[in-house]
Amino acid sequence: MFDRRKFIKATAISASLLVVDKKSIASVIQSSKVSAGTKPIVISTWDFGIPANQAAWKVLSSGGRALDAVEAGVRVPEADPNIQTVGYGGLPDRDGHVTLDACIMDEFGNCGSVAGIEHISHPISVARLVMEKTPHVMLVGDGALQFALENGFKRENLLTKKSEADWREWLKTAKYAPVMNIENKSYDKVAPTKLPGNQYNHDTIGMLALDAKGNLSGACTTSGMAYKLHGRVGDSPIIGAGLYLDNEIGGATSTGVGEEVIRNVGSFLVVELMRQGYTPEAACKEAVMRIIKKKPDIAKNIQVGFLALNKKGEYGAYAIQTGFSYAVCDEKKNDLLIAGKSYYN
Ligand code: ASP
Repeated sequence: MFDRRKFIKATAISASLLVVDKKSIASVIQSSKVSAGTKPIVISTWDFGIPANQAAWKVLSSGGRALDAVEAGVRVPEADPNIQTVGYGGLPDRDGHVTLDACIMDEFGNCGSVAGIEHISHPISVARLVMEKTPHVMLVGDGALQFALENGFKRENLLTKKSEADWREWLKTAKYAPVMNIENKSYDKVAPTKLPGNQYNHDTIGMLALDAKGNLSGACTTSGMAYKLHGRVGDSPIIGAGLYLDNEIGGATSTGVGEEVIRNVGSFLVVELMRQGYTPEAACKEAVMRIIKKKPDIAKNIQVGFLALNKKGEYGAYAIQTGFSYAVCDEKKNDLLIAGKSYYN
């Protein structure tokens, strides 16, 4: 029964959804079960992965390190006020605070993370600094902000007029439990489910890169679930949940309802499955199926997607619901693909 997977044939995505030059938007094509391996290569979640990959590719194509590539890549959506699920312009928590989560990991197994950080538009760079300049892995809240300010990061107001207006609109009904959007089942018929105020409720950028030397790194950054409880932390800054890699095997990252990813230590699971010989897509599928099998009634109504890249440069993705897009960039392409879909579609 769980094998009822069909790929959707997405033939058109409105260029207006992408903040990039039309020429750079590659065709949306069907995801293949096992991609051809290549390096260097960078992959990342969602439509905004296209411009993010372009920035990462600049580093990779000039022989740069995967770690520098993923940091440069995810800084693009972090800085974009029109992306309301990552960095500057992210939707706030239910009390109106924009709190950001991010983590980064390198080929040596070093990692750094910040959670619930406010007022800093590039949490990924703070996470990198935690990794490189402290003996710790994770800083949270005020401590993370203090560390960032002490290291020269600028304090900013991250709540844009648009996100504030959307939050105020949400306050009119203020459902205590935030609802995660599920992507439209027919992606080619345009936009994912929208919340009041026309916003996406979630969508993290997770990025994985393999550089010319064959080394892997990954980064993950988000404003998390919109209108979450103040203090809520999702999977994205948790090493093993939102991001994990082992330079001998490969890397994985996730998006969607972070609580379910944490409960299943999702990205670590994907990497361990690849260690056992699973292809990236098969590993992502197995991790998704664990979530579905444990909680079928909950899983039916949520989205979780995994994206993976192995040491050979093969990649794959899988999600509970149809509509999880991811971007792949190597010397031949910068494509937007749609992940395999599950039992529920
Ligand atoms: N995983 C993120 C979180 O739970 C949200 C998302 O990627 O959609 O905070």
